[in-house]
Amino acid sequence: MTSAAAETEVQPLLEVDNVSKTFDIKLGLKRATVYAVGGVSISVQPSSTLGIVGESGCGKSTLARLILGLYPADRGEIRFAGQPLPRRGKRPRAVVEQMQMVFQDPYSALNPRASIGQSIAFPLQVQGMDRAEIRDRVARVLHDVGLHGNYATHYPHQLSGGQRQRVNIARALAMAPRLVVLDEAVSALDKSIQAQILNLLEDLQRAYQLTYIFISHDLNVVEYMSNRVAVMYLGQVVETCAADELYQRPLHPYSQGLLASIPTLDGASTEPTRVTGEMPSPLNPPSGCRFRTRCPFATDTCATHVPVLAEAEPGHLVACHLYPSSQPTTTPTTTQGE
Ligand code: SF4
Repeated sequence: MTSAAAETEVQPLLEVDNVSKTFDIKLGLKRATVYAVGGVSISVQPSSTLGIVGESGCGKSTLARLILGLYPADRGEIRFAGQPLPRRGKRPRAVVEQMQMVFQDPYSALNPRASIGQSIAFPLQVQGMDRAEIRDRVARVLHDVGLHGNYATHYPHQLSGGQRQRVNIARALAMAPRLVVLDEAVSALDKSIQAQILNLLEDLQRAYQLTYIFISHDLNVVEYMSNRVAVMYLGQVVETCAADELYQRPLHPYSQGLLASIPTLDGASTEPTRVTGEMPSPLNPPSGCRFRTRCPFATDTCATHVPVLAEAEPGHLVACHLYPSSQPTTTPTTTQGE
């Protein structure tokens, strides 16, 4: 984690401004709408790590794909290095190359019939890079992720899970990215291998001056990796602040519940503030505050008015009516960002 850049006021490398995404699906004979991401705004400073955390199905991965341009956004704007990106259609090639992603499953992310060298080289060939330069680049990124150059001739099935994820990281690095989105990138690995990959990611961030978006449901690894954290619930950011501040003093009831669910070494019980119940379906999110059906502090206002994500304390944004900064909007019942 490189923190210096994160704390200074410089132009964010990435800005996501009020971005929303719905999917129309078929449910039997009927059509329905999934409210996947609703009015999300985040920004990431260069050479820093933004952690995005939340339960499975909260919209983290959809947000990642919107950022990478893999899904078109319904509304809102995404800016990269200050440049607004088209909401639909092709992005400038230089931007595409500078934004890379590492997926959760290191095996399915690789072509089983291509050697490791071929997998890393392929996007460089598409770029038009000459063969000698590609060979050098492949050897260098393999070295930088801790793999011997001989691995270039290996195939994915010959590698362990940790080695395969190193290859996926090498493939992202080969494009000389500025931003890497890591979507549950260590979740499928054993704990001991996880630690090695996390340390590798930190080393690479320093060496390549990378900016990370680190997406995970695992609060411990998010805390370890991140300068800032955004907590997502049912497609929306409900709290965002510096990582140490979130873990020491979460303000949103959902964040408090999430953190209370982290097992402690001494087995101390944190049950009273744990989040209980199931997350509602994104097909039919609750009116007002989407967390109200599980919130111990919910009032009538929470059912009729959407809390605004706003600064409750300097640099600490929260969307909850318990804080005056999130005071009700004049439009009742609609969900944030829809
Ligand atoms: Fe709970 Fe209301 Fe705050 Fe939502 S707005 S988190 S329901 S207190």
